Amino acid sequence: MKTVWDKYDAKTLKSVMAFSEDYKDFLDNAKTEREAVNKSIALAKKAGFKEFKNVKKVKAGDKFYFNNRGKSLALFVIGKKPIEEGMNILGAHIDSPRIDVKQNPLYEDNGLVLMDTHYYGGIKKYQWTARPLAIHGVVCKKDGTTIDICIGEKEDDPIVEISDLLIHLAKDQLTKPGSNVVEGEDLNALAGSMPAKSKKDEKDLVKKNLLDILKKDYDMDEDDFISAELELVPCGKARDLGLDRSMVMGYGHDDRICAFTSLAALLESEKPERTSVCILTDKEEIGSIGSTGAQSAFFENAVAELINTEGNYNDLKLRHALENSRMLSSDVSAAYDPNYPQVNEAKSAAYFGKGISFNKFTGSRGKSGSNDAPAEFVAKIRKVMDDNDVSFQFTELGRVDQGGGGTIAYVLANKNMDVVDAGIAVQNMHAPYETASKGDIYEAYRAYKAFLKDMD
Ligand code: MN
Ligand code: MN
Repeated sequence: MKTVWDKYDAKTLKSVMAFSEDYKDFLDNAKTEREAVNKSIALAKKAGFKEFKNVKKVKAGDKFYFNNRGKSLALFVIGKKPIEEGMNILGAHIDSPRIDVKQNPLYEDNGLVLMDTHYYGGIKKYQWTARPLAIHGVVCKKDGTTIDICIGEKEDDPIVEISDLLIHLAKDQLTKPGSNVVEGEDLNALAGSMPAKSKKDEKDLVKKNLLDILKKDYDMDEDDFISAELELVPCGKARDLGLDRSMVMGYGHDDRICAFTSLAALLESEKPERTSVCILTDKEEIGSIGSTGAQSAFFENAVAELINTEGNYNDLKLRHALENSRMLSSDVSAAYDPNYPQVNEAKSAAYFGKGISFNKFTGSRGKSGSNDAPAEFVAKIRKVMDDNDVSFQFTELGRVDQGGGGTIAYVLANKNMDVVDAGIAVQNMHAPYETASKGDIYEAYRAYKAFLKDMD
């Protein structure tokens, strides 16, 4: 099999490895959508981007970002042509499957304190038990202040875990189907076992001790869980996988792997012909809904703000801008897995080392829920990729009727722009740790740069 590794000379190989180091750093510091926004803004500022605020006039080469509630982001490099003539847009999502802490989470049971949770996105629940979990997120208080929380990432930090039933007593459990070997309501995280000192015979002293710790360390009361967003995610850093270090294993490749590569390409865009855009969106894993999901008016509003700086704003200009745009909607694809070859149709499977994966369509059954990109647009994509010597594969997520998945592609396509699904193939999608090829990561980044520069 011919792969990207065959075409890399020693110098390029060095760049491939160096790029993956930057990506690993991003993953380690962007385990939640909020952290991904913060990290992306830090990188954008370094590249000369400014937040769009009170801007009266824009010119080609100007670089702006719009921050939506700290959970989604739109970044623009203004092109030489008017925005009305269309933008070249890269889009990816920055939320990942995880375990969210409920709003009334704490309870004590026989000297143990647990936190009740509700999982977010599609997970195999049994994969999230008996492993170290970190707590990331925010606690918003009634006085308007926000407390940032990150417990469990430093080596001497405490962690939490969701217990699993010992194999010795799992006779009944193991006869259940995989979907409910571990029940959703049983995903309770163990958070403490030491009681507060008390002279009286008080109830729930272990919980009291825990609340005392939260008060002391985070100035947080039990009621503050109501207005908190606390996410349990796998502890630890992304690691090189394989003795040849050709792959990366980490939490949340889906979809920060496309987010980082898209962002990296955008940050290098200088005075493009057509305005370059990168959209990093939240809530994809639960349907792209809400104010910070792809269906929000946020992106359109940002484009309207930019057009408004040209003077004589009218709605038609905004509609033209969207309609004349082209987009790579990037999300992870399912990589061929030798342990489970039966779920793929070999000619349409995505293989590690074959470069960026394009999906003309996604969806389930008869392409339901898919964007199914127009062939004319797909032809243009092929040309841009070939002209720039980018390695790519046209793939499908599994055999027909095996399952399927959706992306944000249709959301933007509904604005009547050309959109095609693109992205990087991963193994173990939605597991606590996912795997991707460094070669594919690098080719995706190259593909995004080529698209921003040459798509017209
Ligand atoms: Mn995804
Ligand atoms: Mn996903």
